[in-house]
Amino acid sequence: MKILVINCGSSSIKYKLYEFPQKTLITKGLIEKIGEKNSPMRDHGHGVSALLTRLIKEKAIESLDEISAVGHRVVHGGETFRQPSIIDKKVLKKITECSKLAPLHNPANLAGILACKKNMPSVVQIAVFDTAFHQTIPQYAYTYAIPLKYYKKYAIRKYGFHGTSHQFVALEASRILNKPLETLKLITCHLGNGCSITAIDKGKSIDTSMGFTPLEGLMMGTRCGDIDVAAVFNIMENENLSLKDIDTILNKKSGLLGVSGISNDIRLIKQGAKDGDSRARLALEMFIYRIKKYIGAYQFILGGADAVCVTAGIGENNPDIVEEIRKSVYALSGDKTKVLIISTDEELMIASLSHELISSPV
Ligand code: ADP
Repeated sequence: MKILVINCGSSSIKYKLYEFPQKTLITKGLIEKIGEKNSPMRDHGHGVSALLTRLIKEKAIESLDEISAVGHRVVHGGETFRQPSIIDKKVLKKITECSKLAPLHNPANLAGILACKKNMPSVVQIAVFDTAFHQTIPQYAYTYAIPLKYYKKYAIRKYGFHGTSHQFVALEASRILNKPLETLKLITCHLGNGCSITAIDKGKSIDTSMGFTPLEGLMMGTRCGDIDVAAVFNIMENENLSLKDIDTILNKKSGLLGVSGISNDIRLIKQGAKDGDSRARLALEMFIYRIKKYIGAYQFILGGADAVCVTAGIGENNPDIVEEIRKSVYALSGDKTKVLIISTDEELMIASLSHELISSPV
């Protein structure tokens, strides 16, 4: 059967079409410039129509009837979604409610779902949430030490993101180590433009570095990661900044970019450091230091780890950074903890979870 995976951003749709149960990739692509001025893709509806027409034109499918299910990446599932879900009216309403927690992401995901429903009304649509894998994190780890009423009133807590990537990498680690996931303690490091680390005990996420939003935790391409909130108040006051201004600074102008002043791309930072640029060197040292700090903390709370798995754009393509991590892990645990580089595939994970859901008996 054919499963289509859709990842809808605010102005783009990434897609991959798979054949199951073989898990072979038939085709993949990107529809861009949705909603932009002078673009023929006026909205996500047009984007999805163009995508489906392209699949037929490329002969990936002869007709839409061949698609058995569409798996949608949905960024935020709040506390409602612990598992992938078949999208019906109730699920749609709950995803809409979760938009409060991810106002930039969930509306685009929803637009993609509605466009697919319109174009393929009889095809089952499945939502796979970035946050769901982390819903096993215990309360003492997900609660912020602020008045508890804000959790009750506004659902302020750690949620964690990159869930499908961490889950995929954990399953791959179990396959590589040839041991059941239920027997393993793993630390998975998703190091892309966004970066997060997860502690996984017996296949379950027990802590992760991102928080209420993807801003918390590691230093990232353009996000600051952990910071004393009082420093944020201080900057706002000194520079007379609005909430929107400071949000842009912390999410889009910080991290590797903000410290180096060069770029959010690790390749350019490494080149700068090599050429003797002190800000680039500092950015690189900070980036690696924070990763090590989280790995150390997670090794401790897990009571040791069978493997530290490194993935995504930075993790998969920078053996020198992985070597730095390996040295520290080795110094603590010797050969007991392996360091593995694993290619992540979030779309394949979404397709696999969708396949599992439609294949399981009701
Ligand atoms: P995203 O989070 O946007 O999916 P990726 O996982 O693709 O990001 O990671 C993007 C980052 O990975 C880039 O900013 C760059 O720093 C790094 N990267 C990508 N390809 C390479 C490469 N060939 N060599 C070194 N670094 C790379």
